[in-house]
Amino acid sequence: MDTRNKGFNTKLVHAGIAEDAHGSVVTPIYQTSTFAFRNAQQGANRFAGTEDGYIYTRIGNPTTAALEENVAQLENGFGATAMASGMGAVSTVYLALLSAGDHMVSTDSVYGPSRGLMEKHMSRFGVESTYVDTSDLENLRKAMKPNTRLVYVESPSNPAMSVTDIAGAAAIAHAAGALLVVDNTFASPHLQKPLDLGADLVLHSVTKFINGHADIVGGIVVSKTEALHKQIRSMLVNLGANMDPHQSYLVSRGLKTLALRVERAEENARKVAPWLEAHPQVAWVRYIGLPSHPQHDLAKRQMTGFGSMIAFELKGGLEAGRLVMDNVQLAGLAVSLGGVETLVSHPASMTHASMARENRLAAGISDGLVRLSVGIEDVEDILTDLDQALGRIG
Ligand SMILES: *Cc1c(COP(=O)(O)O)cnc(C)c1O
Repeated sequence: MDTRNKGFNTKLVHAGIAEDAHGSVVTPIYQTSTFAFRNAQQGANRFAGTEDGYIYTRIGNPTTAALEENVAQLENGFGATAMASGMGAVSTVYLALLSAGDHMVSTDSVYGPSRGLMEKHMSRFGVESTYVDTSDLENLRKAMKPNTRLVYVESPSNPAMSVTDIAGAAAIAHAAGALLVVDNTFASPHLQKPLDLGADLVLHSVTKFINGHADIVGGIVVSKTEALHKQIRSMLVNLGANMDPHQSYLVSRGLKTLALRVERAEENARKVAPWLEAHPQVAWVRYIGLPSHPQHDLAKRQMTGFGSMIAFELKGGLEAGRLVMDNVQLAGLAVSLGGVETLVSHPASMTHASMARENRLAAGISDGLVRLSVGIEDVEDILTDLDQALGRIG
């Protein structure tokens, strides 16, 4: 069935499923490393690209292809390539699109390892990078250089929840002959479609909302054009950070309920965020669905929902935050996000510990910032849990 002109939920359930000889309703796990050719000529044709068909699982696998086609359709892209992890997706994008002497501009509050990979490793190969607060496009405009080839935006960003105008960033990138990549992990394709807003590539840590069940790590890159798709896939085939078929199967299974999960978690977050904001122990809350968020109006314009990620700081700072994290019972104290379960984490000592403290503070990641990924449990239970943990303070 051609699902390209169908609705989002229909795509979630049906897009990409490969027909097989048995009429399987979902694409099974093709747990095979290699695919036999009928004869030598067929092998040669497949390698030459004159005949479609599978060769070897690092190059392509039917279970992974089903997931790739589904996500490509959700993001309205030409094609997608799945990776072993979200960082596999980030590294493939950097390596495919940047060469020695090139420059990249990125969001200062980007996911810690996305910045660490650039500053600690890509820099050794002569790639330069600049990190600015891209929620103000003037900062991006000023950071562009004649050798800027890539603008890499994370919106909303992890964990500062800063929102960047994607259409505006695309215009600045394109005017300078650069490409725009958006890390869409926090929004998920249900709430934001960066390619429709002008981005050239979108990537996800599918570990988070896309899979949604905290049982695998994975990544995916969706390209707007065939040329970019080929560039990314060719890099991945050489790099070898491909997704495994069993992993792809689990992601495809989790993905079917993306819209249901995201909507339910947002319903909860819309109650948790104002509750936190009104709590006497809380200094501030950053949730893009709250009118107090500096880019609330922008988020309303470019997204179809506000999601379930909340950052907050207690009046007692880090010490009070530690007390809350040590005393939550329903919420898990763990990194990662976007799953069915509520999780809390402390970015300054966990996901963003590799960043220099001054860079962290400049990016809005204060020492006392607590990140909350609201799950799909009963909201009364989430609030009761937070209430008892906050009650331990003072
Ligand atoms: C988790 C995350 C990544 C990295 O993904 P992994 O699957 O952990 O490798 C990249 N970007 C964002 C925004 C993330 O939250």
